[in-house]
Amino acid sequence: MAYDYDLFVIGAGSGGLAASKRAASYGAKVAIAEYDLVGGTCVIRGCVPKKLMVYASQFSHLYKDAEGYGWSPVESQFDWKYLVKAVDTEVRRLSQLHISFLEKAGVELIEGYAKFVDPHTLEVGDRKVTADKILIAVGGHATKPDIPGAEHLVTSREMFLLPEQPKRMAVWGGGYIGVEFACIMNGLGSEITQIIRRDLILRGFDDDLRSTIQESMANRGIQFRLNSTIDKVEKVDEGLKLILNGEEDEPLIVDAVLCATGRDPNLAELLLENAGVELKEKAIAVTLDSRTTQPHIFAVGDCTDRMNLTPVAIAEGRALADTEFGHKPHSITHENIATAVFSQPEAATVGMTEAEAREKFGDAVQCYRARFRSLFNSLAGGDERVLVKLIVESNTDRVLGAHMVGKDAAELIQGIAIAVNMGATKKDFDDTMGIHPTSGEEFVTLR
Ligand code: NDP
Repeated sequence: MAYDYDLFVIGAGSGGLAASKRAASYGAKVAIAEYDLVGGTCVIRGCVPKKLMVYASQFSHLYKDAEGYGWSPVESQFDWKYLVKAVDTEVRRLSQLHISFLEKAGVELIEGYAKFVDPHTLEVGDRKVTADKILIAVGGHATKPDIPGAEHLVTSREMFLLPEQPKRMAVWGGGYIGVEFACIMNGLGSEITQIIRRDLILRGFDDDLRSTIQESMANRGIQFRLNSTIDKVEKVDEGLKLILNGEEDEPLIVDAVLCATGRDPNLAELLLENAGVELKEKAIAVTLDSRTTQPHIFAVGDCTDRMNLTPVAIAEGRALADTEFGHKPHSITHENIATAVFSQPEAATVGMTEAEAREKFGDAVQCYRARFRSLFNSLAGGDERVLVKLIVESNTDRVLGAHMVGKDAAELIQGIAIAVNMGATKKDFDDTMGIHPTSGEEFVTLR
């Protein structure tokens, strides 16, 4: 049977864009459907605008640090509306750029929400299209716990467009998004209280990394309500009143609450049942090579809830296009994927945490760690610590994980990730000459 397209992609986010362009480069006839701005979470309401806001929020810390170097105090006012507009303009420019990349690649962009009619047919607006192969790359959305007053909570999506900067803000959740926004808003001058249901942020990361960031965040003025959660949000004259439950349950009055308690795949209206595509919990069930329960339908990125990171979605999408259209079959591994939390100070990590390594290798694990005040801070003041940590399997000397908290940790760990991926040993690290004076040299001088 002849289909309208060789590949139809649902969702023009990181994974969908990468897969569609790669498939078209092999001569496939490709279309991509998007009902929102082209670019997806990362470009429009995630990584990119977030990082711009991180940059904006770092200046206040720099102004303070400068005094330790002899600069007179900087008197400066921050203009929230200016930043929101500037970020929005940049995001829209990038979205247009992605549209031009699609055009150049010969991928047809169809505006509208795609729904399955049957396993090879989709409805997009008032149009019906058929495709030999279909890729679902629809991403996810922030969720809110079902509590009274949940309508007063904002999610990361709304954070980029808030009309006013909240003077007092609560951040609910201790994952990537909660931690990053707590630091951004703190740097921009809001009073921040972060409410987490454990005693440490960032579950799943190495414990030393978690405690080092949390300590620094507290030193920078972020208040924590530990082992606590929000039961109810009430609108009162002074703002929003949060009724808390747990260890630190004194009610809290704020101007805004960011709900960062997690994300779910965007599957509710796709009519997956018409295509026979099955789920695993809330996400699309896929094999290692991103195939769903229908052999000609694939899924990549956050809607599969594997590792919800942009570079992973891109790599999954490209691997699928190479395999299905480029006669270069391969799949990606989800091991040793470096990741960063753009907190202040920044944190980054690759490979196993100490706890994961001990669970797998028992006593045959050696940890090397340095916690120190950076040279920069010796004049800037404060006793914020840099953390550098390596996890090593003693029998083979192989480095299983590398973790860092400190300035430019993400830039540094990106390089170290290559070594860890190649199976570098602790001796390989020791045999490498350091660059002096840097924080990174600690990775090659750990004893
Ligand atoms: P996470 O799953 O990382 O964190 C959710 C947080 O909310 C956790 O602290 C969790 O606690 C808490 N939580 C969940 N449910 C409740 C509840 N009912 N009551 C109270 N607390 C609750 O989600 P995020 O939204 O922060 O991030 C989603 C994903 O987006 C990340 O996993 C990551 O893959 C990606 N991301 C990546 C970034 C980057 O690379 N820098 C930046 C932002 C997002 P607990 O730990 O106890 O479960």
